[in-house]
Amino acid sequence: MKCPVCKTECSGYDRCPQCGFDQLNKTFISKEEAMFWEQQVVVPYRNTHFFTPKNFGEAKRKLYELKTDEAFDRFYKIFAGLVENGSWVSAPVNDKQLLISPFRGGHYIAIYSDMNGRVAGDSKDVITMDINKFIDILYDNPHLLGIVIDPNKDPFLLNRKDISNLTVRKDPRLQVKDWGDGIPQYTEKDLMTEEELLDFGMEIVGQHYIAKNGFTVLETHKGAHGFPNYALQKNNVLYLMKVAVGVTNKPVLSERDREFYLASCKRFNAKCLYAPLALVSSDKERAAKGIALYGDGYYANFSDVEELN
Ligand SMILES: [Zn+2]
Repeated sequence: MKCPVCKTECSGYDRCPQCGFDQLNKTFISKEEAMFWEQQVVVPYRNTHFFTPKNFGEAKRKLYELKTDEAFDRFYKIFAGLVENGSWVSAPVNDKQLLISPFRGGHYIAIYSDMNGRVAGDSKDVITMDINKFIDILYDNPHLLGIVIDPNKDPFLLNRKDISNLTVRKDPRLQVKDWGDGIPQYTEKDLMTEEELLDFGMEIVGQHYIAKNGFTVLETHKGAHGFPNYALQKNNVLYLMKVAVGVTNKPVLSERDREFYLASCKRFNAKCLYAPLALVSSDKERAAKGIALYGDGYYANFSDVEELN
């Protein structure tokens, strides 16, 4: 007989030696009763047993050790389970403020996968709360790009899209929103942030240029003002790329920026690429006024990438 929770063979046991489930010898009078029991007892037990902060830490370590698809899957599954169960996770705090970690040009909420795995350099003070509270804070601040797990040791990024895709908690900023025709009532908060525009732009350039032209992405950097945004490789040549996003009109490269990008590329003996694009609202009036609202429909005006050197 197999344990209904973890499928370990446990004939002769009253309690599963693997997961501790203690209703192994249950009998049912009908299929319906068995199914009801599965939903009411087995599934919740499995969720709380497998999707715990402790397993999250283990899954994160495994992920770094193995880097296999399976390790990623398990890690993501546990993360989604933590969110679903409202599990408590820990995060570094400074002066009672959540730590926002700069990471490759972006800003992320820092959490720990495993309190026991904390290392030197970690904050002394820690807050422990429902992981959904961290997600509330993230969703409420469009300047933040996501969550960084273990900022000081083997950091792992979950960006807004990952979190929204992995869990039942959907990021309101990533949902399509019907703003009607023309210029609606809106506040500052309804406008796309620089970070969101760059993220959007980098994705378009990634799909329509980088992937199509056989580049390998070595690293991404999500600073709207930093350089490069993409470090790429092709035929053993290093390419550093700036992605510049304008609303309605493509940005124009200033002489100063051009010199700065070229100087950076020279240091790494790299080719310098400049990818300007414009995001144009699908509503004519909003496009004319250059208003970029979150969740709006956009045309991307992206045609070519310039080689600067
Ligand atoms: Zn079991």
